Amino acid sequence: MSGLSDAQRTDVTAAVEQLAWTVVREKLELNRDAGPHSDVPEADLRRMWLAALTSLLAIRDSAEQLAASAALSAAQRGADYPAIGAAAGMTRQGARRKWPGLVGLSDERQRKLTWWNRRGDQFAQCVRAVLATSVEGPRLAALRERLDDIEQAGPAQRIDALDLALVDAHAVAVGVPAPVEPIAEHASGLLAALTADADAAMNSHSSLVTRACGRGDCPAEPVVELWRSDYRFDGHRPVPACRAHAVEALAQPATRIVAAYQPDVALSVLAEAHGEG
Ligand SMILES: [Zn+2]
Repeated sequence: MSGLSDAQRTDVTAAVEQLAWTVVREKLELNRDAGPHSDVPEADLRRMWLAALTSLLAIRDSAEQLAASAALSAAQRGADYPAIGAAAGMTRQGARRKWPGLVGLSDERQRKLTWWNRRGDQFAQCVRAVLATSVEGPRLAALRERLDDIEQAGPAQRIDALDLALVDAHAVAVGVPAPVEPIAEHASGLLAALTADADAAMNSHSSLVTRACGRGDCPAEPVVELWRSDYRFDGHRPVPACRAHAVEALAQPATRIVAAYQPDVALSVLAEAHGEG
């Protein structure tokens, strides 16, 4: 295999051998220093070497699974088949045969993973803040489960879990009644904005409708949509707002950013509204 020196390969072999014998001792319930020493009876040696064979092949299977998972993780971070093949000591075609379908995740799934890798920690932190400060309800319980799902999922399943989490996060963040406690209110507002940014970053749908800032005849370009859970303005629909009017409106209680027209704009508008911008 490419990429490792002879000395490194010797180290790997020694570590695997050590692991195999640890497994053998566990399997045969031997004590810690037991091994294929010369004073061991033939029948016991035979049992040990058969157990060593079993455990070495189990290690090989585990390594294969871990290698497939590593190839997927590398691909999700931009590695192509030539790079994966080079790392695996095989040709590009060989890597593609061995692990088909790694590259060419749809653009949308790629965007979702990219967003999660960049913002996932903040999202999880924000969900936990909402969970800690809000009154428990079915939606919050669902969101808590989704968060666990995402954190326990492998990369391939993470995207699906994330989709569901964002739906729940959106429902929680725009839910009525809005929390009264300032800390809870802040957490919900942040979760709404993060969710709006996530949607903008992950989905390529461009708004076909020409929108205008909801504030009268404001000529500025709208960047987000706002929703007030206690006040049905413009019927029952979120209202587009330009940056300045969004910042102004967010000073009102229970006002949420529920959509963003560009990635990352919601968080920055919210930060400006809170005087952090
Ligand atoms: Zn405006």
